Amino acid sequence: MGCLALNASFEPLTIIPVRRALRLVIDRKAEALEVDEDRPFRSESAEFPTPVVIRLVRYVHVPRRLRRQVTNTFLFARDRYSCQYCGKHRRELGHRESLTRDHIVPLSRGGDNRWTNVVTACSRCNLRKGSRIPSECGMRLLSEPAEPNEVELVWAVRRVTPIQVRYIRMFYGEEVLRLISH
Ligand SMILES: [Zn+2]
Repeated sequence: MGCLALNASFEPLTIIPVRRALRLVIDRKAEALEVDEDRPFRSESAEFPTPVVIRLVRYVHVPRRLRRQVTNTFLFARDRYSCQYCGKHRRELGHRESLTRDHIVPLSRGGDNRWTNVVTACSRCNLRKGSRIPSECGMRLLSEPAEPNEVELVWAVRRVTPIQVRYIRMFYGEEVLRLISH
């Protein structure tokens, strides 16, 4: 588990390795807001409480990334790891089945990779649909696909501890982060 790094403004920036977080604290570039005393971090010469959440002393300007590509990681998170045709969750799939990306309008028929044209489908539903659009094969989407909230998505796919989630929620508010499972 890494350390959550906050900007000076408390904006959650990213998860960084504990070693790097500790370096920032020792160099006084960051302050440790939460540490794990029970899990000390050992360097060659000393032992430190493991930083869990740090805050940068100086504000760093982070350029907002342009429109995020729809990778399967983000797509499956948006759809809560469930097939958008039959509703099966990843956990309910047979061992030869998997989650896949389905293009509602197939690429071969002019469809694209935008958020509104891709959904999570189990391999069985994807196979059944083939290169047809849903209405041609009597399949119906459980929900209308839309572009998700970027912040929500970014944090939904990361491994974070309940303490770290508290800081993420503190900054963005409760509703934005409904996808985080803690
Ligand atoms: Zn399915």
